[in-house]
Amino acid sequence: MTHSNHRQGTCCNLRDDFVVLAKPAGTSLDPKAAILRFRDIGSRHGPVNVPGIQSPLSAAHLVYDSQEKVTGFLKDLVKADLGLSITVTGPYDLVEECCHKAGLSPYLVNLSLGFWGNTAMLPPHDILEITTMCGHGRISPNLVWDLAGQVQQRKLSPAQASRKAGKLCLCNIFNEVRAAKLMPKLAAGVEGGSVRPHNPSAGSTEAVPVKNSGISIDRNKCTGCLDCVPYCPVSAIVEIANEGSVAIDPGRCTECGVCWQTDVCPTGAIVARELTWPRTLRGKFHNFHAPYRATPMMAGVSHPLGPGGIVQSFPAHRFPSELDDDFKGKLQPGENVVIVELGRPHLGTTFRDVQKVAQALLPLGLEMGLQYPPSDERTPLNELMVDSAKAVFRRDILDERTGWVIFKMLIRQEERPRVLQALLNVAGEIDAVFAVNILSRVENSVSSITARIAAETGVTPSASCKTNVGLGARPVHRSGTAAPAPRSNLDVH
Ligand code: SF4
Ligand code: SF4
Repeated sequence: MTHSNHRQGTCCNLRDDFVVLAKPAGTSLDPKAAILRFRDIGSRHGPVNVPGIQSPLSAAHLVYDSQEKVTGFLKDLVKADLGLSITVTGPYDLVEECCHKAGLSPYLVNLSLGFWGNTAMLPPHDILEITTMCGHGRISPNLVWDLAGQVQQRKLSPAQASRKAGKLCLCNIFNEVRAAKLMPKLAAGVEGGSVRPHNPSAGSTEAVPVKNSGISIDRNKCTGCLDCVPYCPVSAIVEIANEGSVAIDPGRCTECGVCWQTDVCPTGAIVARELTWPRTLRGKFHNFHAPYRATPMMAGVSHPLGPGGIVQSFPAHRFPSELDDDFKGKLQPGENVVIVELGRPHLGTTFRDVQKVAQALLPLGLEMGLQYPPSDERTPLNELMVDSAKAVFRRDILDERTGWVIFKMLIRQEERPRVLQALLNVAGEIDAVFAVNILSRVENSVSSITARIAAETGVTPSASCKTNVGLGARPVHRSGTAAPAPRSNLDVH
């Protein structure tokens, strides 16, 4: 999971933002009971979010607004010994301090190298500070701009505005407390004109074709109130001049379902209709939450679906599940995982851009033929290629849009400069934006990894990153011997 790894901010305002994630490490006798216990312990340390009782028990997130709370939580987790793997997203220096006070020694870090590609398309940084607290891009930049305007007009308090935005984050990792602190500055920027709407959709829409499949507008019901317009993360909902209604631009719409799921429309004019090929792919790649799976949009889709398209380019026997957090302690010294999230944090991507990035990485070891995991049908990317050895996609889907496609490559550390250079080269050739992550064991210090990456790319990794604190499964060396036990410099009993 990299969705908490690209939270934007300043070194000051990121100090209020920590996401603690738990996943079974394979050592817990009853993983679900362990996750429930994690939530129970975490709730005693004042999280700013409350996990819904409906949330799946395969993982859990708790969000905190202070280093002290995280430290207390980690100390209790050490005592409880739940057999869970724990990661903490936040400024590395602060997370490291929390770990040491809890008697832990972080062993792995997932560094964010920020956003590459057509970054001119991204909203202003002040808005990204709020939208990137939902890693799936469900919070529209225009909605944040609109909410900040309402704060400025005193129609909403900062807390109310933050709550409205946070409700869109289905993983519940949005930090409403931090967002409420950021809102007044944003509101002042909106009033002063320094923060503008992102890709505003106002204006003539005569060229927008009628959209009768997937998420659509029933024009008989639409009153043209425009309430839905800011909710679209890609500005696909546009006003129809002189008709008193809105339309959805089929070219831009990724079928993410945000406008439909929020129930923002007072007249029920936003409807979900059946999708036809190849547009089916848009719903398919965005359809990562259960309530959405039951919609008519899924008709004709032959596979159960996972979150977007993911290509994991490494042997699955070593990494039987997601490696982003290495929660089973598999990554070896000298190995890195490069994770490229095409389409994030906003705007999605086309398969034409997916093809370009895949082809740039092929000579460096990306294997498009590998599935996630093998024999699991959740990754449909292989079916979409006419030649997976050359990463050539079907011609009829090249201009289809999707929310995101993720490549994960296991590489030797010495290959990292070439891989990152290839990504820098292709970044100038695509229309989409992509997020880049590097996963590495912490051998000496994170600052030394950061300095080497900066020298290789000219890009300094973000101070906020995701750290595996070393609880749960301990890293295992290839020889089969367990790595040294986590350092304990504190009596935790
Ligand atoms: S379904 Fe389409 S129109 Fe609705 S929010 Fe998503 S991209 Fe925008
Ligand atoms: S919220 Fe509903 S009624 Fe209002 S503009 Fe959107 S679709 Fe039309």
